[in-house]
Amino acid sequence: MYNKWKKNVKVLIAALSITLFATSVVWALDGLKMREKLRHLGIKNVIIMVPDGCDETVQTVARWFKGENLQLDKMQGGGVKTHMADSIITDSAAAATAFACGHKTSDGFVGVGPSLEGLLSGYEPTADPYTPIASVLEAAKIKGMATGIVVTCRISHATPAGFASHVSSRAWDNDITEQMVYNNIDVVFGGGARHLIPEDSYYTTTFGDVWKGKRTDGDDLIQILRDRGYAFVDNTEDMQAQSGGKVWGLFDDSHMEPDIDRQYFAKHQPSLAEMTAKAIELLSQDRDGFFLHVEGSQVDWAGHANDPIYMVTDFLAFDEAVKIACDFADRDGHTLVLAFPDHNTGGMKIGHYYTPMGYTKTKIEDLVDPLKGMKITSAGLVKMMEGDDSAANIQLKISKFWSLDITEEQAQEILNYQAAAGVSLDYAISYIISKYYTVIGWTTHGHNGETVPLWSYGAEVSKGIIDDTQLATIAADAMNTDLDRISHRLYVGISTITNDYEIVGDLSINDYGLTGNLVLKVRGAEFPINKDYMTYKNRKIKLPGLTIYAPVTGEVYVSQKAVSLLGLMQ
Ligand SMILES: [Zn+2]
Repeated sequence: MYNKWKKNVKVLIAALSITLFATSVVWALDGLKMREKLRHLGIKNVIIMVPDGCDETVQTVARWFKGENLQLDKMQGGGVKTHMADSIITDSAAAATAFACGHKTSDGFVGVGPSLEGLLSGYEPTADPYTPIASVLEAAKIKGMATGIVVTCRISHATPAGFASHVSSRAWDNDITEQMVYNNIDVVFGGGARHLIPEDSYYTTTFGDVWKGKRTDGDDLIQILRDRGYAFVDNTEDMQAQSGGKVWGLFDDSHMEPDIDRQYFAKHQPSLAEMTAKAIELLSQDRDGFFLHVEGSQVDWAGHANDPIYMVTDFLAFDEAVKIACDFADRDGHTLVLAFPDHNTGGMKIGHYYTPMGYTKTKIEDLVDPLKGMKITSAGLVKMMEGDDSAANIQLKISKFWSLDITEEQAQEILNYQAAAGVSLDYAISYIISKYYTVIGWTTHGHNGETVPLWSYGAEVSKGIIDDTQLATIAADAMNTDLDRISHRLYVGISTITNDYEIVGDLSINDYGLTGNLVLKVRGAEFPINKDYMTYKNRKIKLPGLTIYAPVTGEVYVSQKAVSLLGLMQ
């Protein structure tokens, strides 16, 4: 009897594995068919749009809040796995590296392969440690397409950095910014001007602010941009006045303001939709097509703060930018729009332990009305407190800006939570107010690890759950290019070619990256690190890519072109 049972189980397992294998073959064939289809769709333009740090929950809340369907509601199909090489919950840098360059990497790494330490069980890296890997933006550039980046954070922040730089620490804003300047991106809109300005100098804005620099290498990158033929603007009007050519528009020395706070603190700043529209107008003038990355950068920060109004309004601002891109795609007919979060943040949910009315009695008004009364983010509200963090002032400002008359006990509970959780006041305010005055619950002040939604327009790209690295492949297929081939073309380790070289300059690293200007010297040629040219026999020679230094391994990467120029053929 037992033997007969054992025989049946074996037959069952065999049948199961055949089915699984057959299914995976079908999936793989499906995937190949999809890739083949994408390559022949005649896509000219690719737009990758990321609402950082969210999932369908904010999409649902935003729909109720707006009172109608969103643009993204028309585009949903499939989902995305978001784990990174060393954690099932990712950070934004590793996530960006996955969907911009097609390889998983380690926490905080940007555009380079993972460290071999702390890898997830069973995970086999697909890129060499600390080695630069080409992004879809760089591949588009090599194809002669125009390229652009539009964000509401510093342009050197994790997600945009993943498309245009290669460093093993997302904190190295000075190197990231420098690499972006020399990576010949046609249009860049966002914040972060301080990482273009030397630390001992200032930039005075058209609206009378003075921005102090953070660069330690003495390079004035705003002047360098102008010398390279770029316009540099710092307000909406001047941005709108651009009708062609290359432009950098930086509207803050650090991060831009949340969408709902611009009216109070930065009237000169454009919205994400305005920046997206202008970028498309400029980039679409290139007949070879364009690649554009757009990020709703601050949805994530709203999640970290557990701030519902911040999350909903920045998400709606993102949805508006997606509408701009899709309307263009409708007019153009050869454009693929891919949108997806990089991961979820805060674990926002509709319904929590404290909902007073009982979950099956929850009306639209219970969800929306408290949010409608909120006219500023909790971070903006704290700014309005001008340093007076007393319970009485908390009550006063919440009444004024959030139309809520909270009790003295609740104001005190905010201060207690702030102290107990070790978070900033804005985090404490939005967490406690969410608890008592909204039907929105949160699970963390950090990121989450679940699958996130995939939205696409202009072409159907996936039916099932795909890995975030496959998003880079989808974009590359649509542009008919191959990322690994471009990586080999742009990033050759100099020590794999010769040992007759030296790195000259200050090797020290500070909070924002390399302190000074490093130069690779090899056979009479000089390659400034982070830049796109070499000097040889007093001639400056433009290169197709950047010279990258990896401080952890000491390796320097130059392009194949440089190698062949130096007659150091492999
Ligand atoms: Zn985050």
